Amino acid sequence: MVINSNNMIKVATALRTVLKEIKILDSEIIKLTDALGMVLSEDIRSDADIPGSDNSAMDGYALKSIDLKGASKNNPKVLKIIDQLKAGDIPGTRLENNQAIRIMTGALIPKGADSVIMVENTQRQDKNKVKIFKETVMGENIRRAGEDVRKGELVIPCGTLLKPAHIGLLAALGRAKVKVTRKPKVAILATGDELVDVKEKLKPGKIRSSNTYTLYTQIIKSGGIPKDLGIAKDRPLELEKKIKLGLDCDLILTSGGVSVGDYDLVKVILAKLGTDIKFWKIAMRPGKPLVFGTLKDKLVFGLPGNPVSSMVSFEMFVKPAILKMLGQKHNDGIKEVEASVEEDIKKKPGLSYLLRANTRWHQGKYLTKTTGPQGSGILKSMGLANSLIILNEKDVYIKKGSIVKVRFLN
Ligand code: AMP
Ligand code: MG
Repeated sequence: MVINSNNMIKVATALRTVLKEIKILDSEIIKLTDALGMVLSEDIRSDADIPGSDNSAMDGYALKSIDLKGASKNNPKVLKIIDQLKAGDIPGTRLENNQAIRIMTGALIPKGADSVIMVENTQRQDKNKVKIFKETVMGENIRRAGEDVRKGELVIPCGTLLKPAHIGLLAALGRAKVKVTRKPKVAILATGDELVDVKEKLKPGKIRSSNTYTLYTQIIKSGGIPKDLGIAKDRPLELEKKIKLGLDCDLILTSGGVSVGDYDLVKVILAKLGTDIKFWKIAMRPGKPLVFGTLKDKLVFGLPGNPVSSMVSFEMFVKPAILKMLGQKHNDGIKEVEASVEEDIKKKPGLSYLLRANTRWHQGKYLTKTTGPQGSGILKSMGLANSLIILNEKDVYIKKGSIVKVRFLN
């Protein structure tokens, strides 16, 4: 591990250290309607063509294109209607020259026909005859068998995050059940004598544990199942007892108690419980104090208590960990772009800065600007942000108009 003189490791090193410890979780077979937002853990191949046969893309008439040679507004062709087909019918009659079959969208193309003329370009003369005002080319308005999916084709690869279109495709392929990676269970323990739950009345000196709720929902958004372990006072025995309640989860998150205050006990207690601590300080702002380690076969993150530090640390380290547990390709769930910064930014060297920002697409490029005060206790500017500007450890002064890396939060 690379630890610099202040015992801080770089953001990239920290992320690598975290990801190295993570294995993809086991799979489960679930109902298709439960699969939205899950990660596929099998390759989905098609056992048939979709569509299964050539069929009509329009309501109109199936015919031979050769019979319409020269057809126009002033020189319509007249064909004999010999049958009609709607979606779901099996065509019986074979089409011969100068014949037409009335056909509806989705109906199978009858033998002998090579195109479909839209009903809008026709006029019914009587029960058995239709006037046609336009030529067709071969294949016109015919959806070919296998045009969407070919038999044997890899339709959805393992590792795909399932969205509504994938659910529809799976249904089209006849897959009522699907194999996905189970979601990781993630425990949250807030720590601090000053904390009360959202439902409690505030007494002087107390604050509400907002981190419990941001973390709870960040976990859901990242594809995990949160388990709220409540609040622990800054007392060793209580911390120990409550951290242990998270041992039935895949991941344990604590919030607060990891900096250098007299009551910052989390690291000590984690060590006492047998946690193999991999690092405890990252060269970043916000979010410098962050304990990461392994406890038996579980992962533990001691996240910083300041609300923005907690959220940002989650984005940078816990979310990628959850995505890897789910078997999702890192880049699917995390979107980073380059953007031109709309203001001058000063920073200290040695720390990576993660600035709450608004990033928008404007005239062919991304523009980004910070959303206001960046203190790590100021959650409001996080609420206004759709992204984080990520500045390198070595950066000192970023001039307006420079290109910076931006990570979207949604
Ligand atoms: P700590 O690292 O425990 O000293 O916490 C740093 C700051 O974050 C303090 O101002 C705490 O009151 C605040 N804090 C800690 N835990 C939470 C929480 N769960 N929700 C909101 N703020 C918190
Ligand atoms: Mg505390």
